[in-house]
Formats: sequence, C-alpha cells, structure tokens
Amino acid sequence: MHSYQINKHPSYDMLLNHAMGNTSEAESLIISCHIAYCPICKKEIEKYEEIGGYYLTNHEKLNVSKDLWKNILDKVEDLEQEHKQNNYLSHSIKSNLTNDVIKIPSFLTKYLEKMHNTDSWKSTINNVKYKDIKFKDSNFKGKLLEIPAGKMMPKHGHEAYEATLVLHGGYKDEKGEYNLGDLVVASSDEVHSPIADTNTGCLCLVVYSGEIQFKGLIGSILNLSKF
Ligand SMILES: [Zn+2]
Repeated sequence: MHSYQINKHPSYDMLLNHAMGNTSEAESLIISCHIAYCPICKKEIEKYEEIGGYYLTNHEKLNVSKDLWKNILDKVEDLEQEHKQNNYLSHSIKSNLTNDVIKIPSFLTKYLEKMHNTDSWKSTINNVKYKDIKFKDSNFKGKLLEIPAGKMMPKHGHEAYEATLVLHGGYKDEKGEYNLGDLVVASSDEVHSPIADTNTGCLCLVVYSGEIQFKGLIGSILNLSKF
C-alpha cells in the first residue's frame, strides 16, 4: 500500500454535493480524482449515497415527475460507473519530473486528449508545462501543471474558486505544504505563491472558475500571454 498521508480533503459539503450529483463537472472531476487516492473520503461518499438510497426507497409514494425520476436514475448510474473506476490508478503520464511514469486517476484520461507525455504540453516561464482542460460549462476551466523542483508559480489570486490536487511530488505556499492526493481549495480573497517541492517538483490538477488574476510583474506577463 502507499506510504503517503493525505492531509487536505474536500469539505463535507463538497462531498455531499458530489454524492448527490450536484457538483459541476470540474468539481466532480477533482473530487473523483481525490477519491482515487483517499479511502477516507471514498467511505464518506458511500455513506451519503447509502442515506440517499434509503430516502429513495422509503419515499416511493412521493409524486415524482417522470423527468426528475429519470434524472435521479441517470445520476445513480453515473455514480455506479464512477465507483467501478475508483482507486483505479493504471493510467499514467510521462513527465520530466521523474524517470518512472506517474500513475494518474483514470477519470483524467479523457481530459488529457492523448497528451500523456508532458513534453507535448505548452511551456511557460520557469519551464512550467501545462495542459488546458476544457469543461462543457465554460465558466469552469482546468489545467494540468508540471512545475520543476523548487520553481515558483507566479503569485496569484482568484475571482471565484480554485481547487488543486497533487498528482506527483508536492508544493508549499504561505499556508502549508501539500503532497500526493491532497486537495486544496482556495477561496476568492486569497493570494498565494506556490513553490514546487525542491526534490520532486510537482504535477497537479487545478480547476477554477472565473479568471485567475496573476499579481506582480511576472504575473502581468503571464496574463498578457493568456496563461
Ligand atoms: Zn479525502
């Protein structure tokens, strides 16, 4: 079994909303990926689903419209399919950070669009590589980021929402250190400057809504180049 310890988890609200199928595609993706590393949150979600199932089976006489009922069944089916994929880390990325391939949650595969080697990703300052991830709801965006050891991402704040999941190595910012499987949610008023772990670097998935506002000189260059 893995020797890593996960310290940062999604909030209970996020997990509950995820279990009920109320999260956006972007949030759903990052929570599903976190669960591939985290047995604690996996259990929590199963508990919520059991409760949901209990209410469904005990309120059969509720007058539910055909459409709503179909929606519920669709959601349940989606969740069942997700469960089959949970903890399934057989997909991988070839990265400059390590000679070994980096295992990734299977949920990520279709978003990679076959770009499993980070050499095929876009490059930006500090040799940071990234791959844009698109969601159906264009209010949400995502990036896979490969940050070399000890390199800094530009200081940035957010208009709305940002969540980061560590897929390899780790990083630190003003608030703490984050490692494999950690899911870090930043709120709109925070400004932070993450630095990749000095030994391992960091490969991470970031999803966000609104435009990321980079601060300072480097930030303004990146903003211009539409990072
Ligand atoms: Zn967790």
